[in-house]
Amino acid sequence: MTHDAVVIGAGPAGAVAARELARRGAAVLLVDKAHFPRPKVCGCCVNGAAVKTLQRLGLGAVLAGGVPLKDVRIGAGRRSARVKLPGGVALSREAFDAALVREAVAAGVEFRDGVTAKFDGGAVRINERPVDARVAIVASGLAGNDASPEPGSRIGAGVSAQAGAVPAFFAPGTVFMATARGGYVGCVRVEDGRLDVAAAFDVAFLKGQGGPGPAAEAVLAGVGWPRIEGLAELPWKGTPALTRRAKRLGGARWFAVGDAAGYVEPFTGEGMAWAVTSAAALAPIAARAIQKWDDALVREWESTHRRTIGTRQYTCRVVSRVLRSPALTTLAVRALSVLPILSRPVVKSLNRPSPLRGASP
Ligand SMILES: Cc1cc2nc3c(=O)[nH]c(=O)nc-3n(C[C@H](O)[C@H](O)[C@H](O)COP(=O)(O)OP(=O)(O)OC[C@H]3O[C@@H](n4cnc5c(N)ncnc54)[C@H](O)[C@@H]3O)c2cc1C
Repeated sequence: MTHDAVVIGAGPAGAVAARELARRGAAVLLVDKAHFPRPKVCGCCVNGAAVKTLQRLGLGAVLAGGVPLKDVRIGAGRRSARVKLPGGVALSREAFDAALVREAVAAGVEFRDGVTAKFDGGAVRINERPVDARVAIVASGLAGNDASPEPGSRIGAGVSAQAGAVPAFFAPGTVFMATARGGYVGCVRVEDGRLDVAAAFDVAFLKGQGGPGPAAEAVLAGVGWPRIEGLAELPWKGTPALTRRAKRLGGARWFAVGDAAGYVEPFTGEGMAWAVTSAAALAPIAARAIQKWDDALVREWESTHRRTIGTRQYTCRVVSRVLRSPALTTLAVRALSVLPILSRPVVKSLNRPSPLRGASP
């Protein structure tokens, strides 16, 4: 075999899985269809749990230059609440993902960008030729998720606004979350002063507004926050439907990880924590699969995945449901504006890392 493992997708899940395997002595090929550094539709908030997990993996340096987060301001109707959210960092996905890939390469991973891999459960194919590898890891994000979206699932959209066009209201260190009946918009300053804008919208709302730009403007105006000049005209990018459960987390000689293994709407900003934590949890199982394949390893991965991030995704589902009801959202924001302490259990959970199962080689 030319490679012990081929990893499809160099987002946080793929880069960390590749690095952890290389640290265990495996010969790993990591490919991504995009040219790096590349942007990605994302709120760009690496939460406290992700920060701690990265530090435990010896990857704390990838966050250098990120803007430390102190709080989140949630708007609903004309009300808003400010909740303390220490421990996280805002960092553009261009910078974060490229830094993780550099760490993977430093650990011995061979990285090729601008390369689209095809995978249908058999051999991984690059340029129509099969790749010689003992194990494949599918970390290609929502694109790699074979599940049908859940009914009513929202779709994501994002863009970044240049620092000069952004009102001072959107201060660094605060995450601004504007909510409305048709979706929500999150804004945060990243390391170079740009404002990252990421949103999740109902399909009908998006169509009714005429696209993500006008939809985001409508949601921000609805909570009375200052207008971002030219926001609607910026080159917005979209995502497939967000909430989906993968049918399988693996099969003969392959495993899925990160968003490719299932994803829940991003309101609580945990996707990167789930991606990094589950990639680290997969590595010891994939390393054993490289030594000797056994179908039981897929079941082991499914149960490890459930224990590692399954309950976290459940909490996020509950929060997303509350947000679907404007009455409940307004009530929650009213309660939080009077008693911010009520947010403590959710904030605590966002900052608590999952245990790393057998992560150190
Ligand atoms: C609107 C929105 C806001 C969000 N906000 C946050 C937030 O603030 N904080 C947070 O933690 N999470 C957030 N998330 C979630 C987060 O973006 C994802 O959970 C995270 O990026 C998952 O990482 P991943 O490595 O699994 O996939 P990705 O980061 O999507 O990486 C997948 C990679 O695979 C590559 N790829 C795809 N197909 C192929 C192929 N065939 N061949 C080769 N390469 C391929 C892609 O180019 C990509 O680089 C948000 C998501 C959305 C949509």
